[in-house]
Amino acid sequence: MNIDEKLSILADAAKYDASCASSGSRGRRAGPGGIGSTTGIGICHSYTPDGRCVSLLKLLLTNYCIYDCAYCINRRSSGVRRARFTPDDVVWLTLEFYRRNYIEGLFLSSGIIRDADYTMEQVISVARTLRTTHGFGGYIHLKTIPNAASELIREAGKWADRLSINVELPTQTDLDALAPEKELTQIRRSMGVIRDEITEARAERRPPAFTVRQAPRAPNQLGYAPAGQATQMIVGATDAPDAVILGTASALYRGQKLRRVYFSAFSPIPDASSTLPAIAPPLVREHRLYQADWLMRFYGFEAPELTTTEVPNLDLAIDPKLAWALRNRDRFPVDLNAADRTELLRIPGVGVRSVERILSVRRWRQLRMEDLTRLRISLDRALPFIVVADHSPRGLTDVVDLRSRIADRSQLDLFAITRSARSGEL
Ligand code: SF4
Repeated sequence: MNIDEKLSILADAAKYDASCASSGSRGRRAGPGGIGSTTGIGICHSYTPDGRCVSLLKLLLTNYCIYDCAYCINRRSSGVRRARFTPDDVVWLTLEFYRRNYIEGLFLSSGIIRDADYTMEQVISVARTLRTTHGFGGYIHLKTIPNAASELIREAGKWADRLSINVELPTQTDLDALAPEKELTQIRRSMGVIRDEITEARAERRPPAFTVRQAPRAPNQLGYAPAGQATQMIVGATDAPDAVILGTASALYRGQKLRRVYFSAFSPIPDASSTLPAIAPPLVREHRLYQADWLMRFYGFEAPELTTTEVPNLDLAIDPKLAWALRNRDRFPVDLNAADRTELLRIPGVGVRSVERILSVRRWRQLRMEDLTRLRISLDRALPFIVVADHSPRGLTDVVDLRSRIADRSQLDLFAITRSARSGEL
């Protein structure tokens, strides 16, 4: 099999992994005579620690796998066409794509061949060769094999900007049902190795209070995984509710200090196991989970606040912050001219940047209705919950049909969803 054929199989096989942040884009192909596609394979986008968006060559080293995860197209029992790169193939492809200016880095994952350590060694060898033999300074994201030896996981982070280990499903019961060879405790243990190495490297790297500007580092002196670690959870392959998914995500952020948890809506695969649902969950569920994740990371919400025992799934018709506010109306209305930062962050339609602007403007004067649009506050969602100098919602906060009044006005089209997911303002 020539390298083009391998590339077409192994770039296509890598598309199911959302943890390099390429998901969320609306599927689109150019028409006749046009150019470009957001559904193509092989190249994805990610964000570097300094916020730049970079294009990555997204590949599997191989789609052979000794495991049999029911949700995976590359599982042992799948009839999919197989291919395998050598580490040198991947190094060559990365350098060639880079020289042609198609990519700025590499996202490399792999099926498990022979055993976890052997596979991990092959993956590491790609990154090490790129860094040490070719002085490659581009971004590298390596997918780490959870059962690999700790020494190998430690080594991977010396060459990669980011490492990730997919937790795949939120509970061990779910893994037992669909990925019986995987263990949550083992996954957490490997994440812990990465966490400790990152923490140690950051402590060593922290410059003294007053230093002259440091020279850029050589590619082989990056420090340990400077872009942190991430994971991916599949949504909708089991009946685990959002409460459980968010609880697991929250525990991973706290315990393992993850930079990101990616949610990937389960997509039915050809020749699927009968244990899997026949249809994919609605895309909006993935979006609501990302919004809830954003609320936990930037708005001070705890996972248990975002759902209830009676209704353990997020409301698909309205965003999770609005849903929380409707359940907690006794905490509203909030006076924008007096509330503290924590209270402001909990108002529907008021994003983090708007809160900063509110705090800044009100040092000089009272906020009025005419200021709200300039502050980028979503009036549809915010007005029933706020007081400003010339506005009070009076009884509106407590009207019985407030949810449906706001939901009717909210836009559930994919464009609005994608835009708000990118901005992260809720
Ligand atoms: S270990 Fe990874 S590649 Fe192998 S079957 Fe499971 S999810 Fe697929």
